[in-house]
Amino acid sequence: VAAIDDLVAELSRLPGIGRKTAQRLTYHLLHQSKDRLSRLAVALTAVAERVRECSRCGNYSEGDVCEICRDPRRDPGLLCVVEEPSAVMVVERATGYRGRYLVLGGRLSPIEGVGPDQLRVDLLRRRLQEGEIREVILATNPSLEGEATATLIQELLAGTGVRVSRLARGLPVGGDLEYIDSVTLSHALQARQEIT
Ligand SMILES: [Zn+2]
Repeated sequence: VAAIDDLVAELSRLPGIGRKTAQRLTYHLLHQSKDRLSRLAVALTAVAERVRECSRCGNYSEGDVCEICRDPRRDPGLLCVVEEPSAVMVVERATGYRGRYLVLGGRLSPIEGVGPDQLRVDLLRRRLQEGEIREVILATNPSLEGEATATLIQELLAGTGVRVSRLARGLPVGGDLEYIDSVTLSHALQARQEIT
């Protein structure tokens, strides 16, 4: 059945899902009510049609500017720089951070052909030019690429008078912020170290 084959093919493109799992999921879905399947389809369509990049921070947003950037209770002087939108969610859930974010959209990786131009460095420059930011917190992943990315941002900020801090050491090296427990991450943010 073509419709079933199509669904298996689409699901098997998801990370961590091989052909067998995709088939299992497809047959599971076939057993669900039409209603449930429609809700799933509607949720997927909504994501495809409504979610885009926030023009101020690069995070996912349903409007031009995301909820975090619009929230007037957030400290406009604090900017947490992360690699991916998923890291915003992690920092939000794990810590009491009340500043704003900038999502770079990746990390420096010569092997994968990712240089500064592929990251939202221009957006960061624009944010800095507004003159509101006192401190930039580098919250890139504790990996080699994450470190290189943090160094790039640090160099960009040299001489601007903006304080730069880095999540405290002690995060597992080579890890991803997503997989770090909230106590450790919260502590690393509190104990962030000023580097310039
Ligand atoms: Zn935003």
